[in-house]
Formats: sequence, structure tokens, C-alpha cells
Amino acid sequence: MTRGILALEPAALARAVVEAGGRPFHAASIRRWILERSVADFARMTDLPRALVAALRDSLAPLESQVAARTDAPDGTTKLLLRLADGHTIETVRMPGAKGGSATVCVSTQVGCAVACRFCASGLAGIVRNLAPHEIVEQLVHARALGPVGRIVVMGIGEPTLNLDAVLAALDVATDPAGLGLSARKVTISTVGVPAGIARLAEIEKPFNLAISLHAPDDALRRELIPTAKVGIDDLVAAARAYFERSHREPTFEYVLLRGVNDRPEQARELARRLRGVRGGVNLIPYNPIPGSPYERPDDERVRAFRDALRRAGVVATVRWSKGLEAEAACGQLRIAERSGDPSPARPGSAGIAAPVVPPRDPASPGSPPPQGSAAASRAPAP
Ligand code: SF4
Repeated sequence: MTRGILALEPAALARAVVEAGGRPFHAASIRRWILERSVADFARMTDLPRALVAALRDSLAPLESQVAARTDAPDGTTKLLLRLADGHTIETVRMPGAKGGSATVCVSTQVGCAVACRFCASGLAGIVRNLAPHEIVEQLVHARALGPVGRIVVMGIGEPTLNLDAVLAALDVATDPAGLGLSARKVTISTVGVPAGIARLAEIEKPFNLAISLHAPDDALRRELIPTAKVGIDDLVAAARAYFERSHREPTFEYVLLRGVNDRPEQARELARRLRGVRGGVNLIPYNPIPGSPYERPDDERVRAFRDALRRAGVVATVRWSKGLEAEAACGQLRIAERSGDPSPARPGSAGIAAPVVPPRDPASPGSPPPQGSAAASRAPAP
């Protein structure tokens, strides 16, 4: 397996470059080409000597991950299926900003997810492994090759607080002026609700935003939708309150609206009652249906009725009208399609990134969920 440049610490990269016949300053230059300009081909790094390019190609890769498939929606949303060095796949979505504003990238943090929300394609196949920091950063590099990026939402495949060291290390690179240079205020970390993770995020000085997924106004329904959820809504609300008191940053509560399941006005009123006295608004997400799911998306009128019931009860409520329905933008959908042997076709060369589009590898095992009881399967605790 060829190591990627971003998998190496700067000092290790400098050593590798010197071993390949280059000078230490070439190492910094290579990182800049990748992080600032999304150039993922040594030959296109015009300040590198040719002999060094040839030597580097034998030992290192600009990026370890490659675009395995891509879908584009008419609204400008692009979803990438990325194949990692070990053959596993993850998804990254780039969504255009409203009215020409900066684009948002949704990144994955794990291969698969142990939380197993019943409405989510990513939860269907279980957890395989955590992503390393550079595998998270590489998603941003691929996304930025499609066009400028201003926001990051850590809401893709996986539960970020169950891989928090790697997530924070990746966000350090993302927000470092010598890295991708994005604003920490434009980063949102979403959790299904792991109080220890929320408490740790409250201690972080960088002003990241926090989103806590509730999805139900009562514990019985929440456990039905998120079978692994062990923490009750009252405890989550308490964790959110403590988060605000410590960080002075208001969290957002995420709520996926499922038709006939959690979208009734009386459920909105119950949700408002549970959130009374907590700083932070509710972000409503009309469900993005996935094939085979028993859940459906409520019509827009019902979504507005739920939002208005929350507002009448004094809750700041907004609707995130889904982008990219045509791009299979529901979390994990493209990965599931690829695993079932029906990946959407990639379009090499259309987005500017130099990394080649590669055909799926033998899916015999790399993309398969680990056997029950394996180390990977048992790594992630219940939220
Ligand atoms: S919604 Fe998020 S936490 Fe739930 S299974 Fe999907 S990726 Fe995991």
C-alpha cells in the first residue's frame, strides 16, 4: 500500500522527500499543492524537479483515496464515493451555497456506522473501522477540487464523537492557515448524542458548532428510530445545557421528519416542552428516502406545520430543505449501491481533481461488514 502524503507528519514527509532526492522545502511545497490547490499529481506540481517526481511516484501518493463514483444533482450537489487505500469506501458530499454563497462539504468519519439509525443507509451495514485524520482531510481535498468550499459539516457516514481524536486532528488541518485555511466558525460537528463527546467538545477553544440529533420527542420513539441509543432525551438536553454553559456556544438540535412517525403537531409541542429553557434551535430535516426503507418523506405542507407548531411554542425552528435528492445524497446511499454492485458511473476528468477514477475492487471483503464480535464490529459503544 502506497502511503499518502497527508498520512505523514510534516517532519516524516520531509525525511521521505530527502530520501527521494529532494530538499526539505519541497515537502512543504507538496503539502501546499495538495491542501491549497487540490493538485493530486506530482507531475502537476510545477516547482518539483523531474527526478524527484519520478522518485516520489515510486514511494508515495499525493492522495491515498480515489474517486470511485460520482453523482451530480441538478441543484449542483455532487456526491463522491471515495475508495480508501484498503479498498473500503466512504462518501463525501459537496453542496452549493444558497444564492451563490460558499459551498458546504459533508464529510464521513468512519467506514460504516455502529449507531444503526433505522432510517439511515449507513447504519444498515454496521461499522467497519474509524477513519484516520488524513482520510478525513482527503475528503475535503477531493471536494475542493470541484470548487471553493466555505463550510464543513461533519455529518456524513459515522458518529464523529466515537472517533473524536481523528476528527479533531483533521479539523486542525482544515482550519490551519497553513492547511486548508477554513474558518472554525464554519465547521459543524453532528452527534447522535454521546454526552462524553459533547462534554469534550465544550472544552475545545475553537468555535466549532455542535448539532445534536434528537429525531423524536420521547424516549420510546427515539429508541425505536435509534435502537442503540442508551441516553434519554432529558440527559441529552442536560448535556446540551452544560455544553452551552461551558462554551457559550448554542447547539442545534437536528430532527429528521418521517411521515406519520414523528411529524405530528402534538409531537412538535412535546418536543418544545422537552427543550424548554435550553439555548439552541431546532433544525428540521425532511427525510431523504432510501430504497427499501419503510420511512417516507412528509409533504412540504406537513413539514411547515411542524415547524410552525414549534415556533408557536417558542422554539427557533428552521427547515433544511434537502439538497441533492437526485444525487443519492441520503447518507450512505451511494456506498450501499456500490456494495450491491450498482454504483453510479463516475465521470473522470469533469471536476478538476487529478486523482484517477478507479473501478470497484473485488468486493469480496474490503467493503464487507466485519463478522459479528470482531474488533471492528465491537469498537463503537452505543450512544
Ligand atoms: S444517521 Fe448518522 S449516526 Fe445514524 S446510522 Fe446514519 S451515520 Fe450513523
